Amino acid sequence: MYLRPTNLAAALDAVAQMSACVLAGGTDFYPSLGEKWPSAPVVDITAIRELKGIICGQDYFRIGGMTTWSELLETPLPPGFDALKAAAREIGGAQIQNRGTIGGNLCNASPAADSVPPLLALDAEVELISRAGTRRLPLADFIVGNRKTLRRADEILSCVIIPRTLENARSVFLKLGARRYLVISIAMVAVVVALDEHRLIRHARIAVGSCSARAQRVRELEAALVGVPADSRLQALVSPQHLHCLSPIDDVRATAAYRRDAVLVIVRRALDTCVGYS
Ligand SMILES: Cc1cc2nc3c(=O)[nH]c(=O)nc-3n(C[C@H](O)[C@H](O)[C@H](O)COP(=O)(O)OP(=O)(O)OC[C@H]3O[C@@H](n4cnc5c(N)ncnc54)[C@H](O)[C@@H]3O)c2cc1C
Repeated sequence: MYLRPTNLAAALDAVAQMSACVLAGGTDFYPSLGEKWPSAPVVDITAIRELKGIICGQDYFRIGGMTTWSELLETPLPPGFDALKAAAREIGGAQIQNRGTIGGNLCNASPAADSVPPLLALDAEVELISRAGTRRLPLADFIVGNRKTLRRADEILSCVIIPRTLENARSVFLKLGARRYLVISIAMVAVVVALDEHRLIRHARIAVGSCSARAQRVRELEAALVGVPADSRLQALVSPQHLHCLSPIDDVRATAAYRRDAVLVIVRRALDTCVGYS
């Protein structure tokens, strides 16, 4: 059975009563089925207006779960979102960006999902809605492993909530793949840095993807950077020990050892780019 409701209440009824699976842009949904048919009814949420668009509130940005990467790229956003926009530009090609959504990327929870590091670096939360009510979770808690989230089957990810605290910070996203475009990442990093009037680092948030079962913040490095001058010596401050929390694996794209080496280079490069030294 295939349903395409135009309001959220009808979609929530379908997931609750029929255990329907959610279909957004379908760019992960269909490839994951392979040759198979869906094993449950499908509720297509692409016609639900409440789930689309970006709103700037007093304290938060609210990005609807059905917002596509192209829509995000077309929306004027402050520099703190530059890393998220850079990630959006790297998600497949134009056709994928026109269909693929932020909600789909997060619910699919691939370790290589490009939006996760920039959203972690922005302290994003997700809002999940069901007939039982609404709950909010930090993104860092929502994704619990490789393609595993805390979403219950009766919940729809309604929006991503981003505090405006670092909206004017500088931000950079770097992705390393086997080729430049249309590639799943070997390693990626998002950096958000706010400087004070003396060009000392006031806040640093750094998140790494594709180097553990889920992307994660590297908090020891973040702490080590606070108060440090944002100059050409920054690179040297980043050591392998700071990236100890990562647990890269060998897979078809790269070995764990290569990932460990590569991530150190891209973290240093992203920091330099972020503070304007490369
Ligand atoms: C050729 C190609 C290249 C790609 N390249 C990249 C890339 O470079 N980087 C990258 O990160 N990804 C890439 N992807 C993956 C994909 O495009 C993205 O993850 C996209 O954002 C998924 O969004 P979607 O709307 O298509 O999700 P869907 O495929 O519709 O859904 C994905 C999963 O999330 C669930 N879901 C979707 N929305 C919701 C919601 N609001 N609430 C609850 N559950 C929901 C679905 O049930 C499904 O399990 C690529 C895919 C293809 C086919």
